[in-house]
Amino acid sequence: MSDADGGPKQVSDPAYHSENHTAAQTCGWTKNALRGEGKCYKYIFYGIESHRCIQMTPVVKCNERCVFCWRDHAGHAYELGDVEWDDPAAVADASVELQRKLLSGFGGNDEVPREVFDQAMEPRHVAISLDGEPTLYPHLPELIEEFHDRDITTFLVSNGTNTEMLERCDPTQLYVSVDAADRGTFDSTVQAMDDDAWDSLIDTLDVLAEKDDTRTVIRTTLVKGHNMHHPEWYAAMCDRADADFVEMKAYMHVGHSRGRLDRDSMPDHSEVREFTREMGEYLPDHDVLKEVEDSRVAMLAEDENTWVPKLEKSSEFWEQDSLVEY
Ligand code: SF4
Repeated sequence: MSDADGGPKQVSDPAYHSENHTAAQTCGWTKNALRGEGKCYKYIFYGIESHRCIQMTPVVKCNERCVFCWRDHAGHAYELGDVEWDDPAAVADASVELQRKLLSGFGGNDEVPREVFDQAMEPRHVAISLDGEPTLYPHLPELIEEFHDRDITTFLVSNGTNTEMLERCDPTQLYVSVDAADRGTFDSTVQAMDDDAWDSLIDTLDVLAEKDDTRTVIRTTLVKGHNMHHPEWYAAMCDRADADFVEMKAYMHVGHSRGRLDRDSMPDHSEVREFTREMGEYLPDHDVLKEVEDSRVAMLAEDENTWVPKLEKSSEFWEQDSLVEY
C-alpha cells in the first residue's frame, strides 16, 4: 500500500526485514510522519496514522505478474512448495517486532519528538499489502483476528483471485485491485498465472457485495496506454461489488516496472481525476470525489466523511491508547 515515493525495495534490501515467510518494510510515509513531514493519503481519506502503520505481508509469492508492479517478478515464484507456515499469532507478533526493529534507529533522531517515537513503537494499523498476494497465506482470516485482538486495524489488499479466502476475511477495510475492466486488458495487464483468474475476480466482486461489516474498496492502478479506457466498464464492476469506495491511482515509474513500461505510461494527476470523474458519472450514489494531488490519487465515495469511524479522534480506539492525547 506504500506509495512509490516510499522507496520500494526487494526482500534482500536491508530496509526490508523478514522472519520466515513474514516480511515488513517501513514505507516513506511512516518515516515522514515520524519527522512531522506529512502523512500518507490514507490519513486524509480514512484516518490512518502513518507513523503507527505496519506495512507487511505474510507471503512474498504472487500469482500475478502485473506489468506495473515495482517488484522483480523473478523473486515471486508462485509455487508454495513445502513452506512451514507460522501460526497467525506468531505472524502478528513478528510483524510488530519487525516494525519496532525497522524504526528503532529513529529513537536517537533529533528530528523525531520522543512521544511520536514512543507511539510508533506501538503500532495501531497494519497494511497487509507490501509484496506478494496475501491470500496465499492459508491462515489469513485468523491473522486478521490476531491483529484486531491487539487493537490494530487492518487494511487488506488483494488481487481478488482467491475468492473463497476473501469470503472468510473481514478486515477493517478490504481492497480488491481491479486493474482491467475487460478480459483482454486483464490478460495483458496482470498476466495471471491461473487461467481462471478473471472469473475468480468477478466472483470476488459478488463476495464484496455481500460484506456488511467490512468496508470495501475497489482500487485501480491506472496505466496510460494500457488499462485507462472505458470508465463505464470499471464503474460497472464497482457497482457489481457494491464497493463503499473507489480509489484510482496513477502508475508510478519506479523499481522493476521501468523495464516493462515507459515513463509516459504514468498519467498525471489531472488525468487520474478526469478518469475518476468520468467513472463517477456511472456511479450516481458515489457523488463525492476526493483527491490528493501529490499521490496522484482520487476516490469516489457516497458520503463526505470517509474516515474509518473508530479512527475518529474522539473514539474509544484512541481513548484507550495511553500514548496519545488529542
Ligand atoms: S497506509 Fe501505511 S503502509 Fe500504506 S502508505 Fe500509508 S503509512 Fe505507508
